[in-house]
Amino acid sequence: MRLGISAFAGDIERAVGTCLENGLNHIEVGIDDIGDWEFVKRQNNHVMSAGISLGVHLPMELNPCERVNEVRACWERFVLSNVEIGRKFNVRYYNMHMGYALERLAGSRREILLENACVFLGGVLRKLDGEMITLENSYTKGGDMVNLGTRVSDFKRVFESFSLGNMGFCFDTGHNLICSDEYVESFSRITKVVHLSGNDGVRDLHLGISSEHGIGDKLLADLLKLKETEYYVLEMDSAHYKSSISRISELTGIQFEAE
Ligand SMILES: [Zn+2]
Repeated sequence: MRLGISAFAGDIERAVGTCLENGLNHIEVGIDDIGDWEFVKRQNNHVMSAGISLGVHLPMELNPCERVNEVRACWERFVLSNVEIGRKFNVRYYNMHMGYALERLAGSRREILLENACVFLGGVLRKLDGEMITLENSYTKGGDMVNLGTRVSDFKRVFESFSLGNMGFCFDTGHNLICSDEYVESFSRITKVVHLSGNDGVRDLHLGISSEHGIGDKLLADLLKLKETEYYVLEMDSAHYKSSISRISELTGIQFEAE
């Protein structure tokens, strides 16, 4: 397993320092625009020499279930441009959410929106060369615009459309505390990435992983035992790193130590 942190592209230098300090070996970097790769390029030597692997979190605005075909095709090109650049940095996976829509449509036309996501993903997957795409569970609290990918059935609909060689699931503990479903049970065999954070069950607070923040021993132990999961990402405020790392250390017996 690899344990790491999430970081904005502009903060990657600091993230490398945090990894070295805490004995971590993975960074999931947020790429919101092609220009963000410049930050990655500048730190690439440090990333490589520290033995840190990179994953990419694509922009939150990315909308695989977008209804306007031209706009969705544009997002598809954007993802592929990122993959092309990411090859130089040996990016292990590209993580994304399922997208969003007007609440009225997400209720009455969900099937069409999910079909759009399948068309989008099919277009991306066809052009990959071994790269991994992961889809992350999200949450919604209602409103004019709502997220999709907030229940197991959304993911089943998409995963069942593909052979899944290049696609997997990213389980986010914090999002699941707000919009819970049986993700771990349903997708244990295709969960490639786990995002770890706790919260109060209402707000996505990015707290540490502890029982009082909703991540009990049983859940954490189950997640750490997932056979297909290689990347565990502490997606939380840096104040919670140390306590979360030591909890993972206790459960796995792995010592994460600075070199
Ligand atoms: Zn996440």
